[in-house]
Amino acid sequence: MEERLRILQEQIQASLAKARDKNALEGLRIKYLGRKGEINRLFKEIAQLPVEQKRIFGNEINQLKLVINQELHQRLEKFQSKDKDMIDLLLPGKKPYVGHVHPISKIFDELIMFFTNFGFSIATGPEIEYDWYNFGALNIPRDHPARDMFSSFYIKEDLLLRSHTSPVQIRVMENQKPPIKIICPGRCYRYDAFDASHAPVFHQIEALYVDKGVSFGELKWLLSEFVRFLFGPKTKYQLRPSFFPFTEPSGELAISCAVCGGSGCSVCGNSGWLELGGCGMVHPQVLKNVKISTKKYSGYALGMGIERVAMIKYIIDDIRVFFNNDIRFLEQF
Ligand SMILES: [Zn+2]
Repeated sequence: MEERLRILQEQIQASLAKARDKNALEGLRIKYLGRKGEINRLFKEIAQLPVEQKRIFGNEINQLKLVINQELHQRLEKFQSKDKDMIDLLLPGKKPYVGHVHPISKIFDELIMFFTNFGFSIATGPEIEYDWYNFGALNIPRDHPARDMFSSFYIKEDLLLRSHTSPVQIRVMENQKPPIKIICPGRCYRYDAFDASHAPVFHQIEALYVDKGVSFGELKWLLSEFVRFLFGPKTKYQLRPSFFPFTEPSGELAISCAVCGGSGCSVCGNSGWLELGGCGMVHPQVLKNVKISTKKYSGYALGMGIERVAMIKYIIDDIRVFFNNDIRFLEQF
C-alpha cells in the first residue's frame, strides 16, 4: 500500500510541475482532490480493508492529501504573483477623458473654412476701439439713433469695447487698396443683461469684399452657398430688405426653421423663419471715409453672431449655455 501511494504521489507531483497556468492547476485539483477525485476514491477503499490496516492506510492517504494540497497552493501562488506583474493585453483599456471643442469654436472653424475656401483672408483688430472706428467711419455719427441699437460699453468718451467686428473692416480698408477680401472673426461687447437671447460678450464674424464691379448678385450667391454649406441643401433661405447705416441697400438673411420645417413653432415665433444675419452693399459714405473711390470700386459686407448661428444649427434656445461651462452640455459636440 505504502508503495502504491508513493508512486501516485510522484505521478501527481509530476503532473503539477507540468501545469502552465491556473486553469491547468484547477483541472488537476479536480482530478486528484475533487469529490470524485483519486484521493477520495482511495478513502473509499478503506472500507474493504481489515480493521488493523484501516487506521494506517487512512493516515497515509491523509498525509498524501496534505502534501498534494500544499504543493498545489504553492504553485497557484506562483502563478498569481506572476499575474500581478503581467499586463493583460486583451483587457479593454481605460478610456482617457478627451476634451471637446466648444460649439462656438466649432462654428467659428466651420465658417472660417467656408470663407477662406472662397478666397477670404482673416483680419483681426483691437477689442478696445475708438468711437470713430466703431461708429463714425461706419456712417453712424454721434447723434445717429442707430447708436441705441449697439448698447456700447464706453471706457472714456472716445474709447469703448467694440460693439461689433465692423471696425476691423475700416482698419483694413484704411491700410489696404482694393481688392480687399477679408473676414473678421472676433469677440464683441454690449451692455445687455444675460437672458435667454442676450449676453454682454458674444462673437461675430463679418465678411467684406471690395473690388471693381462687385455686385449684390455676387453677395446673394455667396449667401446661398453659405446656407447650403452650413445647414444643408434642403434649407430654404430668404433675403429680405433691412436697414443698416453702413450698407445701402441692406438685407437680412433668414433660413427656414429647422424645428418646424417652416410651418411655424415657438422657436421661430410662428413665422417659420429664423433670422441669421445682416448684409448689404457697403455704403458709399463708408468707402469715402476710408478714401476708396466710389466711382471705381464697390463692395459688399455681411455679418452674423456666432452664438445665433450655433443656436439655430444645434437647436439651442438659451444663449447662456455657451457660457456656463456645463460639461454635460459641452460633451455633446
Ligand atoms: Zn419653427
